Amino acid sequence: MKVIGLIGGMSWESTAEYYRLINEAVRERLGGLHSAPCLLYSVDFEDVALLQRQGQWAAAAALLTGVAQKLEGAGAGLVLICTNTMHKVADAVQAGIRVPLVHIVDATAASIRRAGIGRVGLLGTRFTMEEEFYRGRLAGAFGVDVVIPDPADRETVHRVIFDELCVGVTRPESKAALAGIMSRLVERGAQGIVLGCTELDLLVGPGDCPVPLFDTTREHALAAVDEALR
Ligand code: GLU
Repeated sequence: MKVIGLIGGMSWESTAEYYRLINEAVRERLGGLHSAPCLLYSVDFEDVALLQRQGQWAAAAALLTGVAQKLEGAGAGLVLICTNTMHKVADAVQAGIRVPLVHIVDATAASIRRAGIGRVGLLGTRFTMEEEFYRGRLAGAFGVDVVIPDPADRETVHRVIFDELCVGVTRPESKAALAGIMSRLVERGAQGIVLGCTELDLLVGPGDCPVPLFDTTREHALAAVDEALR
C-alpha cells in the first residue's frame, strides 16, 4: 500500500473526517488490524484563508506546493489537497511533485457518472461555486452540467462554511437553510447535489435532500484509498 500524503487543516474539522474515512476504508478492504499509512501536514488555515480573501493564488499555490514536496520527500506515494477550494491551485501543486495528486473533482465526477446523473447542483465556497476551475472541470472533462444557487443563497452557503463549519459550529437553522437551497436547485433540474466543500457533510446528509448527495470528502478519501492500493 502506498503512503497517503494529506495536505490538511483547511479546515482541520474536515481533515479529521478524511483521516477517519481513509482508515475505515482500508480496514473494510484489507480486514484485520490494517490501517492506512498516512502523512498529514496540517497548515494554519488562517494563513490560507487570508490569501484566498486577498486573491493571492500564486502565493497560495507556492505554499501548498512546498507542503506537497515535504510530503513527497517524507515518502508519500500520492498527495491529496483536503479541500475543494484549494483545487484552484491543484495543477500548480501537481507540477511541483512527481507522485500523483488525486483530484477531488475527478473522484466526485466518476461517482456522478456511475450514478447515471448528468446535471448536479453545486454547493461550496464562493470560489468553488462561481469560478471556472471547479465547474469547468466537471463540465469539460466529464460532461456534467452544473447548476449553482442564486447570489443570496451562495452568500448563505459561503458564510455557513467559514463562520460556522470551519470553526466547529453546527446550527439547526443553517441545516434548514441549506436544505432549502438544495431543494431550490432540484426545482431547477439538479438530479443530484455535490457537497463541494469538505465541511458540508458535517451539517447535511441524505435526509436533508430529495436527490442523491455526492459528498466530496468521502469521494476524495475513497479515491485516495483506491490509488494507494492500486
Ligand atoms: N474545506 C472547504 C472546501 O472544501 C473550504 C475551506 C477552504 O476554503 O479551503 O472548499
